[in-house]
Amino acid sequence: MRRRAEGFLKKVFFFLLVAFFIPGCAHAPSRSAFLPLARPVSSQATPVYHVVQRGETFYRIAKLYGMSAGDLMAANRASDPATLEVGQRLLIPRPGLSEFFAPSTARPLPLEEVRTLVGPARHDYGWQTITVHHSGTLKGSARNFHRDHLRRGMGGLFYHFVIGNGSYSGDGQIEVGWRWKKQLKANRPHDIQICLVGDFNRQVPTEAEFGSLVNLVAVLRREYGISLDDIRRHEDIKGKHTECPGEHFPFLKLLSTLDDIEKNNPRR
Ligand SMILES: [Zn+2]
Repeated sequence: MRRRAEGFLKKVFFFLLVAFFIPGCAHAPSRSAFLPLARPVSSQATPVYHVVQRGETFYRIAKLYGMSAGDLMAANRASDPATLEVGQRLLIPRPGLSEFFAPSTARPLPLEEVRTLVGPARHDYGWQTITVHHSGTLKGSARNFHRDHLRRGMGGLFYHFVIGNGSYSGDGQIEVGWRWKKQLKANRPHDIQICLVGDFNRQVPTEAEFGSLVNLVAVLRREYGISLDDIRRHEDIKGKHTECPGEHFPFLKLLSTLDDIEKNNPRR
């Protein structure tokens, strides 16, 4: 009887642990191996809704999802922009989500600047793989996630790099985490963690954000000799019960763009 109770408690504990780690994507320590490349990006999904927060307007919400305020209003049969209320649920129409990126006014961080940020290759630690995450939040920055990860007992920012979407850091801005500066692993050994601000179950990355990701991964690959097969989404890691970095994250687009860069700049 007692043993059975213990088993049950263990299950409850495990469930709580999993539940705790799913939102916002911060990963529990694991040494599991990688799974092979998974399914392509799908454009069909359940309807997406946005709950209106204080201070938001049709224009600002539309911008988050990469569409015009007019389209957002039309999808919600609104004719007067002043009718928006805090707590109201807005339908986010599909067309904006079938695109790879939301338009940006900012530019991705150029390769040269990314090289400077990343710094000269340091081979003493031996980076071998790259894992891409989303924050699972519409807004954020390295500073917010650092605080959140401290609060969750993870010892501070659990990513090596954070790429902004123009909310709490610049659109396409790359923030370098302290673990990268100190060349320390996060959860898995030899695995570089990159987080894009956004919830790609509900929106797509911005053009500048995605462009900066491409440049960052291109620089890291070249510096550390990381192959395309060793670039993964969080969800591709065996045993991970997560959708991170979200079903609208254009992963195949990332791989094909990196492949094009490689072909145009062959290693000598
Ligand atoms: Zn993740």
